[in-house]
Amino acid sequence: VLVGNDAPSRRYVASKHATAQSIGIKSVQIELPEKATQAVVEEAVHTLAADSSVHGILVQIPLPAHLNEDLVLAHIPAEKDVDGLTELSLGRLVRGVAGHVGCTPLGVLRLLQHYNIPTQGKHVVVVGRSLLVGSPLSVLLARKGIDATVTLAHSRTQNLEALCQSADIVVSATGIARSITSAHIAPGATVIDVGISRTENGVVGDVDVASVAPIAYALTPMPGGTGLMTVACLMENTVN
Ligand code: NDP
Repeated sequence: VLVGNDAPSRRYVASKHATAQSIGIKSVQIELPEKATQAVVEEAVHTLAADSSVHGILVQIPLPAHLNEDLVLAHIPAEKDVDGLTELSLGRLVRGVAGHVGCTPLGVLRLLQHYNIPTQGKHVVVVGRSLLVGSPLSVLLARKGIDATVTLAHSRTQNLEALCQSADIVVSATGIARSITSAHIAPGATVIDVGISRTENGVVGDVDVASVAPIAYALTPMPGGTGLMTVACLMENTVN
């Protein structure tokens, strides 16, 4: 469900739509105008929730400023919450019971698993505490079985450089371009770049690649890293 004309949101939805079609998931795009009322948006989501032929619902966030996102998301039943953003899904994540985990946090975990980066007993610093990325990721990585020791940093964190230096894995999700430099990274650490900033020179991440790449054990590219995983994990959740 796409409301309004935000260009990045349109691109993200187009990419999710195309990936779904390519793997045999029927994806239907519901487009609503920028000025759609709260009632109209809620009704659209409610209709999808009640439709037994629909297995997953994604409401592209952010919604236009006049809309209350929480009230819209509240119409999505947990089984169809493939974006993992509703109160029920987040509650299940915290309680450690089965449910859909947010696509970006899940994508970060899948990357670590795929490249055999150990997490058990390792210190992970997650920079950024949003409900979309940082907070659920910190809970996910600290789960039994994944077993990382997680520090959740944010804009009020003191001495971020030293904190990150003590990490085996740094995940940055602030959207501040090139703010994570070699001063933050211990030699041999793994660095995962979630931030997306649009500059005159194209999309860049939170990580200053030039200084970090020579010392990191592994570093995700931006673009071409976590964004692709977000889409892939949306498919994983939908299939599940
Ligand atoms: P938010 O703006 O909601 O959160 C940003 C977080 O960064 C906040 O917790 C904020 O702290 C923290 N922060 C801001 N400044 C600093 C600082 N100087 N030092 C430490 N922490 C700081 O953004 P989102 O979480 O929604 O998204 C973050 C980035 O990730 C964006 O660039 C977004 O585009 C990108 N993104 C990428 C995805 C992908 O698939 N790769 C998917 C989703 C988002 P505080 O809470 O104190 O304000």
